[in-house]
Amino acid sequence: MTVRTRIAPSPTGDPHVGTAYIALFNLCFARQHKGQFILRIEDTDQARSTADSEKMIFDSLRWLGLSWDEGPDVGGDFGPYRQSERMDIYRQYVDQLVDDGHAFYCFATPAELDEMRREQMSRGETPKYDGRSLALSADEIESRLGAGEPYVIRMKIPEEGTCTFNDMLRGEIEIPWSQIDMQVLLKADGMPTYHLANVVDDHLMEITHVIRGEEWINSAPKHQLLYRYFGWTMPELCHMPLLRNPDKSKLSKRKNPTSINFYKAMGYLPAAVINYLGRMGWSMPNEEEKFSLTEMIDNFDINNVHLGGPVFDVEKLDWLNGCWIREDLSDQAFAQGMAEWAINEDRLAQFIPLIKERVEKFSDVAPLVSFLLSGLPELSPESFENKSLDTAQLQKILQFSVWALDEVQDWQRDKLYAALSALAEPMELKLKAFLAPLFVAVAGSSSAPPLFDSMVVLGPDMVRARVRHGLAVLGSPSKKQLKKLEKEYRQISA
Ligand code: GLU
Repeated sequence: MTVRTRIAPSPTGDPHVGTAYIALFNLCFARQHKGQFILRIEDTDQARSTADSEKMIFDSLRWLGLSWDEGPDVGGDFGPYRQSERMDIYRQYVDQLVDDGHAFYCFATPAELDEMRREQMSRGETPKYDGRSLALSADEIESRLGAGEPYVIRMKIPEEGTCTFNDMLRGEIEIPWSQIDMQVLLKADGMPTYHLANVVDDHLMEITHVIRGEEWINSAPKHQLLYRYFGWTMPELCHMPLLRNPDKSKLSKRKNPTSINFYKAMGYLPAAVINYLGRMGWSMPNEEEKFSLTEMIDNFDINNVHLGGPVFDVEKLDWLNGCWIREDLSDQAFAQGMAEWAINEDRLAQFIPLIKERVEKFSDVAPLVSFLLSGLPELSPESFENKSLDTAQLQKILQFSVWALDEVQDWQRDKLYAALSALAEPMELKLKAFLAPLFVAVAGSSSAPPLFDSMVVLGPDMVRARVRHGLAVLGSPSKKQLKKLEKEYRQISA
């Protein structure tokens, strides 16, 4: 048997460090067994998937030195590797499940299902699809389909008993079928859900080992059942411990930047980031903390993955990156690394129009642009002190900006201006006042080159991280405040 593993990211948003972490373990497992590692793009959520995000996944994984044997961009014998290009395949398989009596049409409207859930909750039950369409006769289905009524297709789930499956790290896991919902397989718009597309593709792509995050454990019973319905062998399952914030909650961008692009923009070395991700939940047989990708592959044993939540701790990453810089970069490689990072002609070409008007000699340049070549600025609550705005207002501005900036797709000056300036008026603030705390968060001081141009140069990941950082320094709103702010934000941004 040839070992075949895969990473199956959805191209929505920024390339996540969790994707790189899971990719790394899949790659090591495949290489250790002289097998293949595949990249498949799960873009069935057409509303949220973007070509831009897909490209960032490719670029950021390549930057980290991870490479795949098959994928949308490199081809292979099992393509297409983008789910959006495989729609006919899923339809054929879901029809087969209906014909075999393993799946059924459901015509319940969203309003009807809401009502059903509300009633279940009022009875103190966990909301769950109640099987109301299971009893429809063939004739009735026929006539409703004929009348063009919208429908979804759901899978049948055993009424009793327990699902048992094996996890490579945890051994046998048991989940009672009563906890499993009759999962939608085909949505009303004709799109497959994750569960259907994922199982069909893993089978057709001959994936032997599914190594993924532990948030998918509860999906395993549905997948196991689908494999059984189709008469296919299920791949081995291995659920990796999730990366966590220092407070042990699931890694989230509110508490830690999660985009690989941010770590690139901060000037970390790819080898150190890989080393750091490798250390999350795994250690070398000799407990050595610093190791290269090749060393990790040579020593890899999935059984050495320890459960328990690995904490993503940026200080640890800083320390490791420092070791790599000191021990592995010659002065020449250091110079080259710096140039690739930001001190290059392309980058200078972005700065120059911003500063040319403001300097008299070259020696004036460095102080002016230092914030463009730095990480998160050193800030204290006093940095934000402002004659006309109190702390609550400052927090609100930064929080609204975080949300507004998260939504900006096309990181251009005009788009940024439009997104932020639209917030000032409904908040009854002059644009200048609104922008004051943003200036401090982004540039570290209130006197800097033009804000929006600087934001373009800094790029989305660094800007978003700085605004979040500014908010954290000022004091992040409490859960309750956040709820209130969110409501207000939705009103003014609608
Ligand atoms: N598309 C899923 C994700 O975004 C893949 C999960 C899996 O590996 O099965 O994480």
